Parts: sequence; C-alpha cells; structure tokens
Amino acid sequence: MEGALTARDRVGVQDLVLLEAHTSETALLDNLRKRFHENLIYTYIGTLLVSLNPYKELDTYSKKHMDTYMGVNFFELPPHIYALADNVFRTMLSEFNNHFILISGESGAGKTETSKKVLQYYAVSCPNTSLLDNVRDRLLLSNPVLEAFGNAKTLKNDNSSRFGKYMDIQFDHQGGAVGGHILSYLLEKSRVVHQNHGERNFHIFYQLVAGGDDELLRWLGLERNCQNYSYLVQGDCAKVTSINDKSNWKIVRSALSIIEFSEKDVEQLFAIIASVLHLGNVKFATDALGYAVLKNVPELHWLSTLLGIPSQVLQQGLTHKKIEAKMEEVYSPFAVDHALYARDALAKAIYGRTFNWLVNKVNESLANKDSSRKTVIGLLDIYGFEVFHVNSFEQFCINYCNEKLQQLFIQLTLKSEQEEYQMEGIEWEPVPYFNNKIICDLVEEKHRGIISVLDEECLRPGEATDLTFLEKLEEKMGGHPHFVTHKLADQKTRKTMQRGDFRLLHYAGEVTYCVVGFLDKNNDLLYRNVKEVMRQSKNTIIKHCFPYTEPDSKKRPETVVTQFKGSLAGLTDVLMSKEPWYVRCIKPNDGKKAGRFDDVLVRHQVKYLGLMEHLRVRRAGFAYRRKYDIFLARYKPLCPSTWPKWKGSASEGVLCLVKHLGYKPNEYKMGRTKIFIRHPKTLFATEDAFELCK
Ligand code: ADP
Ligand code: MG
Repeated sequence: MEGALTARDRVGVQDLVLLEAHTSETALLDNLRKRFHENLIYTYIGTLLVSLNPYKELDTYSKKHMDTYMGVNFFELPPHIYALADNVFRTMLSEFNNHFILISGESGAGKTETSKKVLQYYAVSCPNTSLLDNVRDRLLLSNPVLEAFGNAKTLKNDNSSRFGKYMDIQFDHQGGAVGGHILSYLLEKSRVVHQNHGERNFHIFYQLVAGGDDELLRWLGLERNCQNYSYLVQGDCAKVTSINDKSNWKIVRSALSIIEFSEKDVEQLFAIIASVLHLGNVKFATDALGYAVLKNVPELHWLSTLLGIPSQVLQQGLTHKKIEAKMEEVYSPFAVDHALYARDALAKAIYGRTFNWLVNKVNESLANKDSSRKTVIGLLDIYGFEVFHVNSFEQFCINYCNEKLQQLFIQLTLKSEQEEYQMEGIEWEPVPYFNNKIICDLVEEKHRGIISVLDEECLRPGEATDLTFLEKLEEKMGGHPHFVTHKLADQKTRKTMQRGDFRLLHYAGEVTYCVVGFLDKNNDLLYRNVKEVMRQSKNTIIKHCFPYTEPDSKKRPETVVTQFKGSLAGLTDVLMSKEPWYVRCIKPNDGKKAGRFDDVLVRHQVKYLGLMEHLRVRRAGFAYRRKYDIFLARYKPLCPSTWPKWKGSASEGVLCLVKHLGYKPNEYKMGRTKIFIRHPKTLFATEDAFELCK
C-alpha cells in the first residue's frame, strides 16, 4: 500500500547494529525516538541494553512477561531488561562463572528502577531450589528498606539514590537464588542536616512522621508535622505529590520484620531517627562570656530518654570540647556557631553509622548459610552523574565515581575488544573513542591529583582553608585541558564562574564546583569527647556504632574522599573478576514528563555514553568468540570427523566442524586461539542442533 509505514519504519530496529545508516548519530537518535514514542523503551546494541526512562508505568513487567522471556534466546523477542537478565542467568548456569550488570546513566535516568526489575526477575522466575523460601522475599524487601534510609528527593529525581549500591545475588547449581550480599558506598550524610531548596532529607524521616502510629510518635516525642523539625524543612518541600510517605512507611515497617529485624531493633532504630530530629531542633543560648549554653529544653529530655544518656553528659558533650593538656583534661566551651557545628556533625555521624549498621543487618539476613560453591550475579546501581546550579564536595565524589565506572566500561569494551582483535590477529580498523583516563588521573593520581591536594590541605588544620585549597589546585593543575578556575579562565569563561569555583570537564559534561565546605566535609571531624558520650548510650545500635576499639584521634583517620577512592578501587577489582553486561539508561527530558523526547538532551547522553563508538566496534566486530578447545569440546558431536575424538589441533578441528555445519566464510574468523562468530544467530543455530543431538 502506497504511503503505508512498514513496522520497521514505525518502530525502528531492535538492535542498533542492524541500522542501515549505522555511522550516523542522527539515525541512531531517530531510531530511539521512534521506539520511545511507541513505548518501546528498550533497544540493543548487540548484548548491551539501552533503556529510556518512560516516566510512566508500562504494561511490560507482569509475571506473564517474565515467563515469556524465560529461557528464550536473546534476540528472538523484543528487547527487554528481562531478556538481558535471563541471558546473564543462563550464561552463568552453563559456564558456571560470575557475572555483573553495570547499570549507568545520569541521575533520574532509571538505574534504580532497572536494578529492581532485574532483582524481581530473579526472585520471581528462578527455580525455587532453596529450602528457605523467604530468601526471595528478603532479597526483594531489602530494597524498600535501604531506599527509605538512603534515597531522597532531589531536583533531578524524586527518589534519588544518595548512596552507591553493589549487590551480589547468589545462586546454587540449579539456579535457585540462595542469598545475597550488599556493599554500600559513601552515603551523602550532609543531607541529614542540610537540604537545598526543592530537595528533601532522607525518606525515612518523613515516613516516620507521616506514617508512624500515634503511640509510636508519642513514645518518640514526635509531633505529626514535618514543619516542626528544622532538619526537614530547609528544602521547603516536605510534601511531594509523587511520594506517599504514609503508605511507604507501611511497606518499610513490614519489610523490616520480614528481613528479621527484631522488635527491639526496630524500636531502637526509630529512637535514633527521632533523636536526629530532636537534635536538629536543639538551639543554644549565649552566656555572659559569649559561650554556648544548652538550657533544659524538651529536646534534651527526649535525646536523653531515647538514647539512654544522662542529660548532663549530653549537655556537656554538645557545648564543650575536651582538650588534653599536660596530663590534664580540660573542657573548653564552644561559642554558639561552634556548638551548632558540633551538633550537626553529631547528627551526621549518628545517621551515617546507623545506615552502615542497617546494611550489615540486612546482609546478615541475606547471608547464605550453606557453604557449597555458588555463582553470583552482581548488580551495580550507583548515584548517576549530577550537575546542579551549585555543586559541592558530594557532587565531586559522585561524578568522580561515574568517571571511574566509565573508565571501567571503556577498558572492558572499547579497549579490550579492540586489543583482542589485534592480539588474535583479526584484521581490524581501529575505532577511535574518547578515553576519560585523563580525567580520572586529574582527580586521583598519587601526589598530583585533586584528591591528593585536598588531603594535603586537610593536614594543615588552622592554616588551610577552602581558598588555599583552590590556590594549590590552580598552582598544580593550571594548564590541564580538563581543569579551569576563575583565575585561569579566559574572559568569556570567567563570566560564567565565581572566584571560589573550579570547573572540571567531565566525560559527561562540564561541572563547576564551589570549594566552600570541601575541607570540612573531607575531614568529617567528630570530637572525641562526643564519641565518648555516645559510647555511654543504652541504645544498643548506637553503642555498636561508637565502639571502644575505634582508632583514636591520635592516629589520623583516612579522609572521606580517600576512603571513597579506596572502596572504588576495591569495587573495580571485584568487577574485573566477573563477566560484564551493560545497561545504559537515558533520561529523555529534564521535566520528569512522559512522552517527551528532548533531542538535544538525548543526543548529549548518546555522545558521552559512547553509544556510537560501541555500535561501530560491535558492527565491525563479532558478537561471539570461544577458545578453540572449548568450542570443539562442546560441539564435536555435530560432525562425524570430530566425533568422538579429533586427532589434530583444536583450531583445525573447529575449522572442520564449522565447514561441516555450513558456516559462510564472512560469518566467522579464525583467530590465534579463538573462533570469532559475527552474528548470534549462527551460534544459536549450532546450539539448537547440539540440543537436538544430545
Ligand atoms: P536513577 O536511579 O537513574 O537516578 P530512577 O531509577 O530512580 O533513576 O528513576 C527515576 C524515576 O523515573 C522513577 O522514580 C520512576 O518514576 C521513573 N522510572 C524510571 N524507570 C522507569 C520504568 N522502567 N518504568 C516506569 N517509570 C520509570
Ligand atoms: Mg538511583
């Protein structure tokens, strides 16, 4: 019919590798847009999954959909996160090795939702081999609990992850989910005491105030009104239409019981959450000498009751610093602003440590007690690249983390893929790509990177300030192509910056950081006597969180960013030992709106996510490769000359085998140690034949 659209015109191709105009970014974008408007948010580039945030509920996540995707070859059904999850799962079972799924994209692109879909797929679809039925429930319910304590509304996302999360799901030989383990990364503690306009504190505070029953609130000394708590109102948006704190509270409350928190744990946990709110309302008066004094205010009473610490001890701890001088202990009083600072530091410490306790507790409940060998699928869902109007230490850490993950992606795909062709002697036209190693080095290089400079400044208390930090950066980084400050900038750029800013040209775009607070947040100082006060607590969680064995202040603890750097290096090692899979999440618009596809915004993400480069490598390359001996050992029954035993070399055997199977010459290439197969279809056909002859 003239003028009628073919299905392909209308919905585009499912795998971008099949695009005819495969070198054009515009064609790729057109394809994504077409599909998006048909509610087809998933598209492949080979085995990489591109996912667009639909910003509305789609009817593709039912149990029926899960069943459809189960055990079906990857390319036979429309692209879906379930197809990827299933493919990973079956590869793990047949090769008996470990895998991970790296989910990336900027804040609000849909990473956390994607990771939940994967977890749901495994929890619902995997064979139920474990005697512990509720392992699945616990795996699923760990999510709302950690989200309540670790997620918050930001300007980018109403449910933004403010901590990084890596979760291993453990499987037994039959593919039953038998346990899990979570690693958490750098929680954004500063949010406890400060929120920017339009943002909120962590969900749990609002959930408790909105949903906790009357008796609980009375016991905690809380009123049912967020406006009464200064830690909850700074962003001026305690109520958000998209968030139902009351019903989320119910979910979290029952989840806590199912993941085996005792009633006592739960009580103590909420006593702590309430304490933080009371702490935020503590105000200090000034005495005749100008020092901070804390009257017997109701907040003090509640803190003392909930934490089980005598109020005098608390009072002293909140208004004085202990100094040790000549074998003597002297208490030196704080001025009011100092006391407020110490109060906030305590609130952050309490919350941050309680969060870690919570993660450990969840891990205890997910731990698999059976010691037989397991394989795992890891899910990495970390805070995405973030640019706000004002960016601080937290954004610096978050964006650094995203640089590292991008670097990992590059190493595992673009770089290693091309190196492998070279090593195997496969003819190959190199595909150029931007390697962000230069930015990673700028941030983290030993003795020279931004982190080193920051730590050095943190070692000069009293002398160094945020501005001396900036000056040192200018001295050391001046001239670096990815670094600029107000002073170093050309006239045009200078107009867009303040004196106290430095700007990094990240792989995903420019971000201007304001240095105010960098030193302080990196030091994350908590006075020793405050720790001693907390140690006296009768609240068992607090007692646990402030242990005696803590390295004391004489030995310098690692700074926040250095600890973070270390844990990211650890994460990289963990991931490098597993087989990678990728989901690249894309945010279609900045307004959290359904059906709106902003070309400029999407094009920008397509660029920095390296999708074009990935496509070029994929298209020119080979979807599958196997070592000759492994390939031969598996498929030798399919050819009379290789069965039961091939006498020559493995590569000759493979050649004989594929000729017998009728592989076309352009469909495969013989490397030094491996056979390379261009299309998955070819391998699927062989695999099907193998299944039949078994
Ligand atoms: P990220 O973790 O990348 O910051 P989220 O996964 O939290 O982003 O997604 C942000 C919001 O977008 C979610 O709260 C949800 O409203 C919406 N969203 C994301 N993915 C989907 C999806 N597959 N279906 C429906 N809504 C989604
Ligand atoms: Mg998230």
